[in-house]
Formats: sequence, C-alpha cells, structure tokens
Amino acid sequence: MYKDIYKTIKSYNNIVIARHVGVDPDAMASSMALRDSIKLTFPDKNVYAIGNGTVKLTFMGPLDKGIDFDQINDILLIVVDTPDKRRVDMEDLTHYEKSIKIDHHPFVEKFCDIEVIDDEKSSASEMIYDLICSTPLKMNKRICEAIFAGVVGDTNRFLFNNSKPETFSVIADMIRDYGINITKVYYNLYKRPLSEVKFFGYMADNIETTDNGVGYIIVKNDTLTSYNVDSATAGNLINEFNNIGELLVWLSATEDVKNGFIRVSARSRGPIINKVLEKHGGGGHALASGAKVKTFEDVEKLIKDLDNLCKEYSESSDE
Ligand code: AMP
Repeated sequence: MYKDIYKTIKSYNNIVIARHVGVDPDAMASSMALRDSIKLTFPDKNVYAIGNGTVKLTFMGPLDKGIDFDQINDILLIVVDTPDKRRVDMEDLTHYEKSIKIDHHPFVEKFCDIEVIDDEKSSASEMIYDLICSTPLKMNKRICEAIFAGVVGDTNRFLFNNSKPETFSVIADMIRDYGINITKVYYNLYKRPLSEVKFFGYMADNIETTDNGVGYIIVKNDTLTSYNVDSATAGNLINEFNNIGELLVWLSATEDVKNGFIRVSARSRGPIINKVLEKHGGGGHALASGAKVKTFEDVEKLIKDLDNLCKEYSESSDE
C-alpha cells in the first residue's frame, strides 16, 4: 500500500496535506513530516500543509496559508490522522482529483481513494515514518524530530499501551541514524506559561466525581478569562490527571464561546469510552476520546452515560 501511495505522490505536482480540526501534536507532526519529506525528495513539487494552527506547535514549522486552491488544478489530497470527513480541517479546499488517507484511529468511514488505516499504530506520525522508510521518500533530522514529537504526543511519553515494540524501534532508529535531540523536542512540547500552571491548579482543585469513578472538571468562559488561558488548554491538560486511583474515566468540559460549543476531552483507564462519545456526537480512540456538545445539560447527560459505563465495567471486571 505504501508503494501505491509513493507512486501517487510521485505522479502529482500539487499536493495538499490536511488533518483533523483541533490540531494536536500528532496531527501537526504527521502533516509537517510528510510535507517536508515530499519537498525534500521532490523539490519542484508544490506541497501545502493546511489547517488551523496553534502557537504551541509552531516549533514544528510553518503552515501553508492563504493559498487560492481554486486556481490550482490536479490536486492530490492527503489526509492524515483523521477517520472521518467532517473532522478534516480544510475549509479552503473544495476540489481535488485524487485522495489518500493515512490514519491510526478506529475506522469510521471511507472517504478517500486510497486508505491506509492501522489502529494498532501509536500515531499517524509513526505511519509517516513507515511510509518514508519503505519508499524512496527522504528523511532528515528535522523530519525525525517532528515524528518523535507526534509519537510522544499520542503515546503520552510512552505511558500508553499503544507504545509497541515497533514504536520503540522507530525511536531507536531515529536517535541512532539522525541524532534527534529528544530533550529539545520534549521542552518544545511541554514548555508552558505560568498562567497555565496556575490554571492546572484550578482544575485539580475543582474535579468533581461520580459514584462509579468518573472525574469531571467543568470550565466556564469566565474562569478561562480570569486565568488568561484559551479554551483548548483544559483539554490539553487532561493527561495530567491520568493516575488518580479513585477514577476510571476523567474529562474536562470547557466552554468555547467563540465557536459556540463545549469542548469535551475524555480519558479512560479501562472502560471503552469512544462509543459513548460517539453517541454524543464525538469519537476518538478506545481510551482517549472527545466531543463538542452544545450545552452544559448535554455534558451532564454525557457524564451520566460514562458513569453507567464505569458501573458496568466495575461489575464485570476483576481488575
Ligand atoms: P482530545 O481529547 O482532543 O485530545 O482528543 C482525543 C481523541 O478524540 C483524538 O483522537 C481526537 O481525534 C478525538 N476527538 C476529539 N474531539 C472529537 C470530536 N469532536 N469528534 C470526534 N473525535 C474527537
């Protein structure tokens, strides 16, 4: 399959790489690494990595902005790290000739001509590493450092079970063959302003719990304003609550007044939560999912469903 993808890439001069809305390190890294590798291999091709950015991830490189895609023909679209069309961050692009998907989420729908999906992989970034290494696409240290950041992001620094033997082999290869500076990447990924640390204190102080082990933190807009943080911050911090003994599932629900929804980021230590999040209009991985809901009543309903899931899980599990 990677050979077919390479042949297709080789045959197109205009290539647009898109990924999911609400960009995270893996989505950003997989699109940047793929763009930079194609550019390195084929300097004359026009390759654009599109989507909304975030200041925190600018260290991975610049996004390609302000391009009038209507003036460009014969576009190959490559979507990375995104299982369904509605979550592709690409309002600029309405026409393309051929499309490819490279993703590690559980399958949701087919929307590209060629699709490579492996939900056993740690990250889309690891898949981009596999693509580059199994084809004549070129690699360099900068591309490897982006891939490392993506893998670190989606494995939460190799704490999750999606860190497989192959994942560690990929990291070992990149350190040995390209001398990647992991300390620098970790600093870029995890450096944060003092306001965020103080906000983390607020979150820790305001976790509520249900009877069956759901921890939830509701964050209203006035709290964001008083701590001077944006609406993505609580979701970005949710992995900091990973090892709380009393909790099986934990989530943040943050008001996003600009976009008119409440952003939910949920994590689990056992119960499979993505089906519940799907029921509420979201989705994601078995143990790491999200959703955008309309009202705080919707959040309450979601918490109730997750509480029931935890109850069932505890009753049927001896762990
Ligand atoms: P997050 O909590 O934002 O880090 O997201 C965790 C996982 O859930 C990622 O795989 C996301 O792609 C997925 N996800 C987050 N929000 C949504 C949503 N609104 N709809 C579908 N999947 C989502």
